Amino acid sequence: MPELPEVEIVTRRLRELTAGKTIIKAQLIRARLSPENSPRQFAASLKGARVEDVSRRGKHILARLSNGRTLVIHLRMTGRFFYLDRGAENTPHTHAVLWLDDGKKLLFDDQRHFGLMMVARTAELGRVKYLSKLAPEPFSPEFSPEYLHDTFKRSSQQIKLALLDQTKVVGLGNIYASEALHRAKINPRLPAQRLSKPRVDLLRKEILAVLGEAIANDNQFDAEAGDLDSSYGRYDHVARVYEREGRPCPVCGAPIRRITQGARSTYYCPKCQRR
Ligand SMILES: [Zn+2]
Repeated sequence: MPELPEVEIVTRRLRELTAGKTIIKAQLIRARLSPENSPRQFAASLKGARVEDVSRRGKHILARLSNGRTLVIHLRMTGRFFYLDRGAENTPHTHAVLWLDDGKKLLFDDQRHFGLMMVARTAELGRVKYLSKLAPEPFSPEFSPEYLHDTFKRSSQQIKLALLDQTKVVGLGNIYASEALHRAKINPRLPAQRLSKPRVDLLRKEILAVLGEAIANDNQFDAEAGDLDSSYGRYDHVARVYEREGRPCPVCGAPIRRITQGARSTYYCPKCQRR
């Protein structure tokens, strides 16, 4: 499942490929992909609009259009974009198509059907339910040591679960939450409010470091395949514990352990992350 770094890389690629271009036609093939818009509304509100900019908020991609609307996209589990010649065949799970004025079409392919899109008025984006409650962006000044300290002080959640809660910290999923906790030597089960201020500061620093390293792992875009998903590197490039159960911790050599928290796997080092 793409987390902040992967969504950031797809966002940058979409910006490179579509900013300044006009959508000459749009089609919503699977209506449930955009439950707030009918297929007819979806097509009508995108047709003729120029893409002004593409940005990211949490794990959402925001394509701001010249007609006062923004296309909000969440890749969820398996959503991915393909940028192909207009005459190319659709991929097997194409759920939406945007035809651009550069002779290309942008496909949204989603094998597992969890992806979401929504065409919203740009002026009303702040009220969109997916966006309104999100925590500050990790790389913004609002994501300060004080912010994180205050947020965790009020939370009795286990720290791993608090990191996955997008109203507290945005962009982290199962992979980077496990990695940040390992780097900061914090036990994933520790209640968030029991973290001391220096440990919260260290955790914040390690969140930024692991996200930054993963974003830097940006592969060359393969224009021929047109698959924007392939432009991000695999997380194993930065992973020290994720999906490494039983293998030695790269810091101390103890076998990595897997536990279940909130119905999802957490990987951690029982020695480095004892407390
Ligand atoms: Zn260790």
